Amino acid sequence: MPTMQLVFASRNQGKIKEIQELLKPFNVQVLSASELDVPDVEETGETFTENALIKATAVSKASGLPAIADDSGLCIHALKNEPGVYTARFAKKCGGYPQAFAALLKELDGKEDKSAHFACVIAFSFPNGTAQTFEGRVDGTIVSPQGADGFGFDPIFRPNGYQETFAQLPAEQKNKISHRAKAVSAFLEKFQDFIGK
Ligand code: IMP
Repeated sequence: MPTMQLVFASRNQGKIKEIQELLKPFNVQVLSASELDVPDVEETGETFTENALIKATAVSKASGLPAIADDSGLCIHALKNEPGVYTARFAKKCGGYPQAFAALLKELDGKEDKSAHFACVIAFSFPNGTAQTFEGRVDGTIVSPQGADGFGFDPIFRPNGYQETFAQLPAEQKNKISHRAKAVSAFLEKFQDFIGK
């Protein structure tokens, strides 16, 4: 019998599986937004924190259960931190990831500063409206696409201290240093206190 139920405000099966794995030791039942009759919410915020809070708060209120949501993206320093919160929409607008890589590399062509970071914010919200957020960030460099693993912008992101891109590193290595891993670990520290483990 699980000690509590928690909704993960996402329909992304990969992310849901990851969160279920991470919360396994806590005897928590993680439900997905698709399992409950909760409406999709538009990401109208201008920051990762705003978007994560919009998603978590809406799902928590609609379901009557505590909810978590994440929002993430790639921030390129010489491009004023773009595409940032618009990362997923930017890839879609370009017509796919290979086209998005080409567009970003073209914009960076001739620029000395190729530094960037991935950011992730996790929001943890209750039906009464109280919420907390947890951040993670990993710094690196934008390079020409290399590697076939991972997802999204992994092939053009080489984390600082590594010779490989995120798409060349084994998943377990990426999952130790990534923006999402850091945000999840900050959340888990708090979550542990919350359920008194
Ligand atoms: P969202 O958090 O679902 O809004 O997605 C943000 C977008 O940022 C994703 O669609 C990816 O394109 C990109 N992104 C976020 N995290 C990663 C990552 O770990 N690797 C590669 N791309 C990522």
